[in-house]
Amino acid sequence: MSGVCGRFAPSPSGRMHLGNVFCALLAWLSARAAGGRFVLRIEDLDTQRCKPEYARLLEEDLAWLGLDWDEGGQKGGAHAPYFQSACGEFYEAALQKISGRARVYPCFCSRADLHAANAPHLSDGTVRYSGRCAHLSPAEAEALRQTRRPALRVAVPDLDITFSDACRGVVTQNLAGECGDFILRRSDGGFAYQLAVVADDARMGVTQVVRGGDLLSSTPRQIWLQRLLGLPQPHYAHAPLLVGADGVRLSKREQSLGMDALRARLTPEALTGWLAFLAGQQPAPAPVSAAALAGRFTWDRVPKTDIIVPAELMGNS
Ligand code: GLU
Repeated sequence: MSGVCGRFAPSPSGRMHLGNVFCALLAWLSARAAGGRFVLRIEDLDTQRCKPEYARLLEEDLAWLGLDWDEGGQKGGAHAPYFQSACGEFYEAALQKISGRARVYPCFCSRADLHAANAPHLSDGTVRYSGRCAHLSPAEAEALRQTRRPALRVAVPDLDITFSDACRGVVTQNLAGECGDFILRRSDGGFAYQLAVVADDARMGVTQVVRGGDLLSSTPRQIWLQRLLGLPQPHYAHAPLLVGADGVRLSKREQSLGMDALRARLTPEALTGWLAFLAGQQPAPAPVSAAALAGRFTWDRVPKTDIIVPAELMGNS
């Protein structure tokens, strides 16, 4: 096997839908086309929303599609654990390291504080942190600690992070201007996605990260954390988003595109044929197996912008 390692890192907060399996197929093809191994990591940090039942179903849905993995999920492997809910000690170690290399400070802001009317909104709809708690004196922080458990935030520098994305081309983001100080650990003690994903990708030897374009704006933060921690930077590819005819991103609400509905009306090859067509890998949505696509996959043919899902596949026509 080549030194390439790809991964699929779903959150088991519901049954997969078309958008999830589109990303899964691209991640799998990208790794397999390079002769790489493939890891399935279950991102179940949000214990309120994630359910073991969904994790089981997503393994079953991936297997149904013909997407296999060398390690991860129930199968385990050399880099276990593969369930983020079991990885706390690794996140704690990363947090300690970051705290020694950057300013990590307690943040007492409530959700309402963060979404105050004048809070600057970022391109992805999230809010850039005002830096309010960065200026608390130790005495003020101590007083607030009596009433509220703080989140932990890391202060970012005024630094441009630039990376080359296999799908989007060169991407640049200024950390202070476009992102702001971000959370490493939530007030409920849970570790934040940005920290967990960096620690896990490095621990599992991941060399290529393929995921949905909605996470593009997270990548500069993750690259900055990798640099702080002295970790290698994987190659990135952010897949185009699947949208409806109205240009609005498909969501789990579209029941006809949930895996239960898709499996009821399509064979694995028929669904893969559609996904491969949407991904620019074949000129028509002819049935095909994932394995047959692996030998001819290339990012060059994947569309760079949102993809409208045809009515025929929506199942409404
Ligand atoms: N767990 C994230 C999701 O389901 C993906 C994280 C990643 O691929 O980095 O959207």
